[in-house]
Amino acid sequence: MSKIKCRNCGKELIYNVISDIPTFPFCSERCKLIDLGSWFDEERRIEDPVPDDQIESNDT
Ligand SMILES: [Zn+2]
Repeated sequence: MSKIKCRNCGKELIYNVISDIPTFPFCSERCKLIDLGSWFDEERRIEDPVPDDQIESNDT
């Protein structure tokens, strides 16, 4: 048996194999979505200020 802590809320999870936890390394789908959501927010903040000419050059 192994133990991990949920990446989002820190709740302790006990498992024999990783596939015991479909939402690994999170305790639940909710924590998984929260973590992914904050990650995507971070990405969007970086990619947001795209210059107009860069979008046009992708067209060719
Ligand atoms: Zn959690």
